[in-house]
Amino acid sequence: MSEIRTNPFTGEMTLYAENRKNRPYEFVHKTQTKNTDNQNCPFCGGHETWTTDAVYQDGPDGAWQMRVFPNMFPAVKEDCTKCEKEPFYEAAAGKGRHEVLVDTPDHNETIDEFSVEHIEKVLQVLQDRLNHFRSRKHTQYVQIFKNCGPSAGMSVRHSHWQITGLPVVPRRAALMADTIQGENCLFCQMLTYEKEQGKRIAAETEHFLAVTPYAGRFPYELWLAPKAHQRDFGDMNDAERKDLAKLLWEMLQKVTKLKEDVGYNICVMDGPRNTDFHWHIEILPRIGGFAGFEYATDCFICMVSPERAAAYYRGEEINE
Ligand SMILES: [Zn+2]
Ligand SMILES: [Zn+2]
Repeated sequence: MSEIRTNPFTGEMTLYAENRKNRPYEFVHKTQTKNTDNQNCPFCGGHETWTTDAVYQDGPDGAWQMRVFPNMFPAVKEDCTKCEKEPFYEAAAGKGRHEVLVDTPDHNETIDEFSVEHIEKVLQVLQDRLNHFRSRKHTQYVQIFKNCGPSAGMSVRHSHWQITGLPVVPRRAALMADTIQGENCLFCQMLTYEKEQGKRIAAETEHFLAVTPYAGRFPYELWLAPKAHQRDFGDMNDAERKDLAKLLWEMLQKVTKLKEDVGYNICVMDGPRNTDFHWHIEILPRIGGFAGFEYATDCFICMVSPERAAAYYRGEEINE
């Protein structure tokens, strides 16, 4: 069963994917992230026959750097066309595509240890996959994300990204897209304002700004956004990609020093199909975590102000 049901009161969606419960969960101890045994890892170089067939691989088996294949436990499936609709509720069949990009053949290498050039290649492959997903007519929304560390939901230790093509637009993306009307992009306005203020700027490059969002949900939450209005992550050119790779690398050095074995997510936020947007990357460190209050209210309690977080990323001394 793969089905997306909508909460009639809030518009929030839940994706039911019962086959996902069968997937392997490698982390026995929550803190064990480094130097784990790779004997049973389907993502390691040399284990190519353990996964579904690659849709992209940049070298022969056992000698590649990047490898993309359909997720063995997909949250949405291409052959899922039916959904037993109940008249009172809104639901959609979970028809879509779910791929995995393994971005290193090395079992223990993490993204913060990649070279800038390697991160650039990762971004290029993600852009190619996004463009491929967009060409499929049932895809309304593409979510690219990476879970780093067990506290951020990583179930297989070996570094990887997930790319999901959904038949519906999740509420958060739809709400963000609503803030762009014609020439008037609220995201562009925010970037202009933040540049003037300066206090929430973590870093700036030729093409990108790294900001700690004014009302971010997570301690040290960081957004990397193109300074010029750009609708789609897939539109980024070579110079912009080079620039972003360097910025991402620099920021990840700081994220991973927040605490030992810090968990975090990297999410590429892109627009719904045929809708204007201002794409950006959200880095969401998992420090502290959320509990009853957050789940009940959708209002996050955050122990670090965005202004303080930006100062940390700029490398300034922070006075308690
Ligand atoms: Zn591995
Ligand atoms: Zn914009």
